[in-house]
Amino acid sequence: MFVHSQIEIQGFVQGVGFRPFVARLATRFLQNGGIKNTSTGVLISVEGLQIQQQEFFDALQNELPPFAEIHYLKITSEPLQNFNQFEISPSVSNSRTFAFSLPDIATCPECVEDIFNPKSRYFRYPFTSCCSCGARYSIATRQPYDRENTSMAKFILCLDCESEYRTIDNRRFHAQTIACPTCGVQLSFLDNFGNFIAEKEDALESAVKALKAGKIIALKGIGGYQLVVDATNETAVQRLRERKKRPMKPFALMVKNLAAAHLLCDIRELEQSALTSSAAPIVLLKRREFSDIAKSVAPQQSLLGVMLAYSPLHHLLLHDFNSPIVATSGNRSNEPICIDNTQALEKLADIADYFLVHNRAILRPLDDSIAREINGKMTVFRRARGFAPLPIKINAIMPNTLAVGGQMKNTIAISHNNQTILSQHLGDLDSEATRKQFEKILADLQKSYAFEPLRVMHDLHPDYVSSQFAANLNIEKHAVQHHYAHALSCMAENNVLPPALGIVFDGSGFGLDGTIWGGEFLLIDEKGFERFAYFHPFPLVGGSKAIQEPRRAALGLLFCCYGEVAFEKMDFDFSQTEKTILKIALTKNLNCPKTSSVGRLFDAVASLLEICHVNQYEGHAAMLLESCAAKSKTNDFYTFEIKEKIIDWKPMIEQLLTDKKSQLTNYCAAKFHNTLAKISLEIAQRANQKNIVLSGGCFQNAQLTTKIFVELTAANFSVYTHQNVPPNDGGLALGQLFAASF
Ligand code: ZN
Ligand code: ZN
Ligand code: FE
Repeated sequence: MFVHSQIEIQGFVQGVGFRPFVARLATRFLQNGGIKNTSTGVLISVEGLQIQQQEFFDALQNELPPFAEIHYLKITSEPLQNFNQFEISPSVSNSRTFAFSLPDIATCPECVEDIFNPKSRYFRYPFTSCCSCGARYSIATRQPYDRENTSMAKFILCLDCESEYRTIDNRRFHAQTIACPTCGVQLSFLDNFGNFIAEKEDALESAVKALKAGKIIALKGIGGYQLVVDATNETAVQRLRERKKRPMKPFALMVKNLAAAHLLCDIRELEQSALTSSAAPIVLLKRREFSDIAKSVAPQQSLLGVMLAYSPLHHLLLHDFNSPIVATSGNRSNEPICIDNTQALEKLADIADYFLVHNRAILRPLDDSIAREINGKMTVFRRARGFAPLPIKINAIMPNTLAVGGQMKNTIAISHNNQTILSQHLGDLDSEATRKQFEKILADLQKSYAFEPLRVMHDLHPDYVSSQFAANLNIEKHAVQHHYAHALSCMAENNVLPPALGIVFDGSGFGLDGTIWGGEFLLIDEKGFERFAYFHPFPLVGGSKAIQEPRRAALGLLFCCYGEVAFEKMDFDFSQTEKTILKIALTKNLNCPKTSSVGRLFDAVASLLEICHVNQYEGHAAMLLESCAAKSKTNDFYTFEIKEKIIDWKPMIEQLLTDKKSQLTNYCAAKFHNTLAKISLEIAQRANQKNIVLSGGCFQNAQLTTKIFVELTAANFSVYTHQNVPPNDGGLALGQLFAASF
């Protein structure tokens, strides 16, 4: 019997070669009809023998192409129409817009083969792609995902590309980003005044020569510009540091393939799959002791941030250069990554010597994402290229809400028609440029998803740029306490519903009592949270200066323990004048805000152990302390006291100072980590909640996370940690959003 059915599908069905896949199935099961993209997904018509149509339905769901996912599927019977073929018809837009854009996908192995195959017409073409790889979100203007809705629209297909595009069994059948040397995007090489030097193959050759000569190149990549330089050339790397005004913060590396990464780092299985995944993030890996990477790439670090070439341009450049490169975000410090040629030439001219650019517009800034294996799970620290805008699956009914995130590592989250989207990493809202970016990306999200929020969620801190932005919106507003939002973000991504205990170890956040919180045990139920326990607050002498200088946090701790005698305990490299000022500040309690922050406790301990007195970048001291701890196998821990809700670290600090005289630094550092795990266990037992979530910036520390996880699971608690959402402030927006569901 002949039947006609219509199938409506939502999910990841655009930009993944879904229409070609369906067309092939239709041919296989002798079905006529057609398929088209809509703003919500795809619509399929099939007409043919009922028995074969059933097989078509089964294959449709069981043989999905990579990246495709069906979230919703509805089949309806229709009257026969006597189609005489199966065709891919033009897209239609309907009013409800929420088809998902796909994230940018790293070049697939077949396309890599093409660009290195002299017989292929894609040989050495830096913008090769197919149905299963290439730029997606970074070049999409609107939905549905068709070539005319991307920045590829201006490139008219040549006859060869046209023919591949129309051939059903071709890998590039309906590949929206199809392009070749004849008709597609082209490379140019410019000096830092924007003067043209070379194009196409010559541009690439000139770039490789410049790299060999130690020059800095601003390279237009997928989600923005990158600054690249020979990673084995110490002078060149130092020049990049000087020009970028970035003295110490580690640079990420890019290598040509997995084998090249293995030469630099010890790589475990999970890390290997992250490196080679379609998102191709920077993965923090344990560095090998000997390699020819320049010292100043990642001074003092036991980890190296490494990514693999993820676009054909990167593949060709690294193949020809044949050595690792530094690849860091193409921005001025504290500003967003550059995406536009003119803007890049203006902003990066005094950093880069040359520009390797192309004539396809990048429409959205997407930094390289960063991930690390923690306690056997990949945890994303910076969620951008390759991840955004994948929705976060949340098991709750979410009203249409906007969450504007925090101040640092800002991201925006929206829930719309019960889908939750977390924006890509936008950066610190301190700079005017990032603020503009924030507004632009918000407008972009609203437009892409036809989204009108009913309410806005923001941080409790009144001075955050994001909070002020929310205050000016004419809709219902809700403030969400910083650490509550951290805990909720971890609950949301792990589908943990209240009640739960949130262990939030963080830098700093505005507390309900107006003091700075950051070492919090929060009991969470449907109504909100209770501050169940927290670390004894200590003074941060000099306020925000104490965030840059761990020695100030250390002095604050010592002052709590010993009063003025603190100044005789340690020197901390303060000058005599500084000491006088600090003494007055502490004794008279001037500009000494109190904090319960575990982030600052890490800083203080790092300074007390003389590992780091002054941070050169965020998290510097804590990272060094972690790598010391990783070198000791001790299970010893320090004494601590819990009085009512307050965890007193004084006995720990006193013992640590004694230990320091006779024990190795690594031993003391590990013992400090162990103590935090024991404290967590003690509080968890008092709170007596089965489900425990770990969140906050300190959980980027693998030692800390693992130790607490082991301690708590051994006592039969269910412990949840971050994976798809950053434990740092990049996850706040999601937590704020989740708060709206209660
Ligand atoms: Zn491909
Ligand atoms: Zn072509
Ligand atoms: Fe935070």
